[in-house]
Order: sequence, then structure tokens, then C-alpha cells
Amino acid sequence: MTTVQADSLTLAPYAAHDEQSRGRRYPEPKPQFRSEFQRDRDRIIHSNAFRRLVYKTQVFVNHEGDLYRTRITHSIEVAQIGRSVARALGVNETLTEAISLAHDLGHTPFGHAGQDALNECMRPYGGFEHNLQSLRVVDELEERYAAFPGLNLTFECREGILKHCSARVARELGEIGERFLRHQQPGIEAQIANLADEIAYNNHDVDDGIRAGLVDLQQLTEMRLFRRQYDAVTAEHPGLGERRLVHEVIRRMINHIVVDLVRTSQQRIAEAAPACIDDVRLLPRPLIALSEQTLEEHRELMRFLRERVYRHYKVLRMTTKAKRVIEALFGAFMADIQLMPPEHQELAIRAEASFGTAGRARAVADYVAGMTDRYAILEHQRLYDPAERT
Ligand code: MG
Repeated sequence: MTTVQADSLTLAPYAAHDEQSRGRRYPEPKPQFRSEFQRDRDRIIHSNAFRRLVYKTQVFVNHEGDLYRTRITHSIEVAQIGRSVARALGVNETLTEAISLAHDLGHTPFGHAGQDALNECMRPYGGFEHNLQSLRVVDELEERYAAFPGLNLTFECREGILKHCSARVARELGEIGERFLRHQQPGIEAQIANLADEIAYNNHDVDDGIRAGLVDLQQLTEMRLFRRQYDAVTAEHPGLGERRLVHEVIRRMINHIVVDLVRTSQQRIAEAAPACIDDVRLLPRPLIALSEQTLEEHRELMRFLRERVYRHYKVLRMTTKAKRVIEALFGAFMADIQLMPPEHQELAIRAEASFGTAGRARAVADYVAGMTDRYAILEHQRLYDPAERT
């Protein structure tokens, strides 16, 4: 017997509903006992790309310490924040979770440094963008199902994964790219996952930045968002040890931002009164938003992190090294695809036959982007260190 999934009975009308889904690229029978979006989430969790996130960097390279965030813990934190917001707003928690867990699947090794380096290598061949790569992973690159390439996710989930894209790429992508040409919004669940991503990394980069000794509490109190919670915690708990103080402040910062997000979004939803997900898509601005003041304070935090953490000389040394590794790998494979494992050679030969040099470059980029930090370091040693076994 097939049971009705409870989601749709309790969801707001403007949420993503199973029955109104624009469907999958390759039609499939309905899942038994699960909703369509549960199936999306489950496929993401079982993918190879998801498992690799364990060994991919957020800011700090994976081997630097066990306490720093990796892509997987980041994705789980995004899902946690996203689910709380989705539930508070009565929209589809499961779809929000699926998008959150999938949003970084296309990330290269070595965080943003890796993405920038690969983009530079791919500049003559159409560039590399991790967000677009996440969609490519779920649409094309995962090899798990007999009947179709990729994970064959719903339109709503894919729409959420593709957060931004240029007009040129949007035209090539067809249906999923249309909203960028028409300047429309994605569904609410996608909007939530997008902001949950920012909230998660800003707050956990403060935590990781302190742990790494790149910033201290004194510097952080220059920021209003931090200062307000810091003053409250130190007043309530004088003499609290630094570790608990930091965690308590960050916990309250996340709560402050999320509560603001829910309240502001509730207001916007009430004003716009969308009757269905397509109404949400047609609105001139997103429904999910922070209040002006919190947005400004959040941006202050982002600027602080950019200057004090991401551009700290210790981080820059690491990211420069990472860039060199990516450039060297890409250069070696591009010059001679026979240096890649046979299955990737084959993909490169096929891509080159269809799309010329750009096709070969894309296959090389897929291989490099799929690597974990430690695999990339190992491949680099195998290729460039004469003492290393191949
Ligand atoms: Mg992210």
C-alpha cells in the first residue's frame, strides 16, 4: 500500500508541493512511502560527490586540524538552519534540506582558492563555476542509476542548486536557466537554502578563525553583530572561560539572524500573499530576506572575515599553494590526457570528439574538481615528485 506523504497536507500553498512539481528530466514512477523531495534528498546523501565533501576544505585545508569545518559539516549546518526556517514558515522542509545538502557538491578541492584556480585554467574554455558544477554533478556526472545519467532530481531541487548563472550559460541550460534571463526568483525553499548558506559560513568562519588564532575577541567586538551578543553574555556570565564564551556568542548570533530572517520573511510573504510556487517565482524580489539592519550587520561581518581571515597571511600561504597544485594538475592532464585514469581518459576522448579542445578541458576540469584535498595533493606528488610511486 502506498501512503500519502504528510508534507503536502500541512504545507503553505506557496511551498513546493509534490503534486505541483515540474518533474524530473527522465520521468520515473512515484516513490512508494516517500515524497519526491525525500527521494531527491536520499539520492544526494548516497552520491559519491556527497561522500567526498568529507575531505574537501571550506577555508582551512583538510589536514590542518580535525576541528575545522569541511564541506560536509558546512552542508549539514546549512541544512540545519534551512530546515528550521522552512518549518517556521510552513514550507517544504525536506526540499530545503535536499538543496542545502547538494549546494556544494560541485566544489573543487581547497575551497575558494581551488575554484578560482580552476576557473583561471578554464578561462579559454568557458570558465569554471562551482555552483554550475554542482548542477553538473547531479545532472550528468554521478553514475548510480541504470536508466539515466546523474541523480535525475526534481526541477525544484535543481532550481535551488543553481543559485546564480550568467546569461550566456543560462541560454545553454534551457528550462533550468530561464529564470536568470527573465529575472525571476526560485521557489521559497531555494531562497532559504541560499541564505542559510551565508548564515552558516559567516558564523562558523568566525569560530574557525578564532580557533586558528587568526582573529581574537577584541577584534571581533568591533562588529555590531558580535558585540551585542558578547556584551549580553559577559554581563550574564562574568568570568566565563573563552571557549564557552565564544560558542555562546556565536550560538546567539545565529539565533538572532535566523529569528530576524523568519520575521522579515513572514512580513514579505504576508504582503505579497502568493497563492502558489509560481507566484513566488514571478515576484520582483525574493521573499526570504533579512531586515535592513541585520543585513547591514551581516555584511559588516562578511567584510571583517574577508579582511582578517580569508586574507590573513597564513591562509594566503595555504591558498597560494593550493592554486599551484590545481594549476599543475590541470596543466599536466590537459597536455596529456593519458596521465589520467582510464575512465577519465575515455570521457576526455569522447568530449573532445564532440566539442574539440573545450570538451577535453571540461573533462579534465571534471576530474580535478571531483578530487578531495588529500587526493589532489597525492596526485600532485605522483606527477611531480620523482621519488613518489605512481
Ligand atoms: Mg556553501
